[in-house]
Amino acid sequence: MKSIINAELIAPCGMNCAICMGRLLREKNKCPGCRGDDTYKPKNCVRCVIANCEFFKTSHLKYCSANCEKFPCKRLKNLDIRYRTKYSMSMLENLKNIEELGIKAFIKNEKIRWACPECDGIICVHRGFCLNCGGKKEYPIL
Ligand SMILES: [Zn+2]
Repeated sequence: MKSIINAELIAPCGMNCAICMGRLLREKNKCPGCRGDDTYKPKNCVRCVIANCEFFKTSHLKYCSANCEKFPCKRLKNLDIRYRTKYSMSMLENLKNIEELGIKAFIKNEKIRWACPECDGIICVHRGFCLNCGGKKEYPIL
């Protein structure tokens, strides 16, 4: 499996959908990522208040930022805490990097950060290893 991380797979909250179990674990009915069609998305993601936030309907911006009066909203803060404690990943840090470096540089870094050391797969953020070959990073991901 080839590592595919692109801008379409970076959700408004800063989540990299390419490293999610909902994509990596499934052979069939793969989740297309937050910005894709709802059919094969987890229900929590379809209902997510960030994905459905008015801010994205009324602005040209693609990611949560201080341009939104609610930033960081309760949902974003909760997501961030959950991912930082359980999965060693931070939405707020991702958003900060997207803002400071731009989406292209962010994606370039994400490709390195989540690349499997053993094959051309991607480390799954939820499992902490490559679902393709079981490969792990030698060093902490954060
Ligand atoms: Zn691998």
